[in-house]
Formats: sequence, C-alpha cells, structure tokens
Amino acid sequence: MVQRRCRDSGLQDLGVSNWRFISTVLKEQQEPIYYIGSDSAFMIYPMSDGKVYYYAQIIDENKTFLNTDAKQSLEKIFRNYAPEVLQSIKDLDNEEIISGSLSSVINTYYPHKNIALIGDALHGCPPSLQQGVGMGVEDAGLSSCSFFLISR
Ligand SMILES: Cc1cc2nc3c(=O)[nH]c(=O)nc-3n(C[C@H](O)[C@H](O)[C@H](O)COP(=O)(O)OP(=O)(O)OC[C@H]3O[C@@H](n4cnc5c(N)ncnc54)[C@H](O)[C@@H]3O)c2cc1C
Repeated sequence: MVQRRCRDSGLQDLGVSNWRFISTVLKEQQEPIYYIGSDSAFMIYPMSDGKVYYYAQIIDENKTFLNTDAKQSLEKIFRNYAPEVLQSIKDLDNEEIISGSLSSVINTYYPHKNIALIGDALHGCPPSLQQGVGMGVEDAGLSSCSFFLISR
C-alpha cells in the first residue's frame, strides 16, 4: 500500500528497457559475468541448484525493443555478443522472459503514518547499477540516526 502511494505520486521513466529470466541450464562458471556494450548490457549470475539468472538491458527511449517480441528483441540487440550470450537467448521460451523498463521514484521521502520503506522496498535497483546494497545500508544508517535524534 505504501509502495503504491510512492508509485502514484509519480515515477520518472529512465528510457532503459530490460529483460530478466532464469534458466535451469547448468553452467560451469561460479562467478557473475558482465558483457557491456555501448548502449546495452547482458549479465549472467549463477545461482544455487544449477540455475542461472540473466539480466539484459538497452537504452530504449521510444520503447521500440520493449514493444517488440521479447526473444526477437534480445536476438537483435545481442547478435554481436559472445557465443554464450547468443546461446542463452536461443535456449529461451518467450514465456520465461520478464520484460520491463527502469523508472525512478521522484521524491526521496515518502512518509505514511508510522511506516517507512527502506532498501529495495522503496527503490528497487537494477543489477547493472550495483548500488542496491549500498543504498539499503545508507537507508538503514540514516533511519537509525533519525530515530536516535527523535528519541533524545
Ligand atoms: C542478480 C542481482 C545482482 C545484483 N548485484 C548487485 C551488486 O553487485 N551490488 C549491489 O549493491 N546490489 C546488487 N543487487 C541489488 C541488491 O541485491 C539489492 O538491492 C539488495 O539485496 C536489497 O536489499 P533489501 O534488504 O532492501 O531487500 P532484499 O535483499 O530483497 O531483502 C528482503 C527480504 O525480505 C524477505 N521478505 C519478503 N517478504 C516478506 C514477508 N512478508 N515476511 C518476511 N520476510 C519477507 C525476503 O525473503 C528477503 O529476504 C543485485 C540484485 C540482483 C537481483
């Protein structure tokens, strides 16, 4: 409900379309791999149980790619990427792909009664930014300072 209030008060579209999917194809790698292009990125994150989480994004101001069939968009955007990227897209079914676009909350402060959202609950962060944990820790630190000042 508080999250809905945040969204209703306005979101800024960042002009970036993204696609996420999980594959059960077992990969040998243990570490995440990032493939970075000039306007796009493809990231592979090994998870537990032999599953792999994939995240792909591109600058897409007019949502041309977002409004096209997801697999076709991925094949077109990443056609010149490494063979393992092409293979992971080839293995996909369209139903497995979650498509979306990045947007940002406009305000940094959303009070509602005695509820405060922090971390991803307030500002979910794409893996490509690599800032989610830092922002969550900052939220926790600032919250504890605020509680301390109020309680004095
Ligand atoms: C693939 C991937 C790669 C990432 N890479 C990076 C990176 O390199 N660097 C970085 O800084 N950030 C990265 N992030 C983002 C980072 O993981 C998140 O921003 C961070 O984990 C958010 O922390 P959080 O505590 O706010 O939320 P979460 O980590 O989502 O914690 C919320 C917890 O609440 C629990 N929960 C949910 N509902 C309930 C309920 N009703 N009752 C009880 N418990 C509940 C959930 O199970 C979960 O454990 C990445 C994210 C992804 C998906």
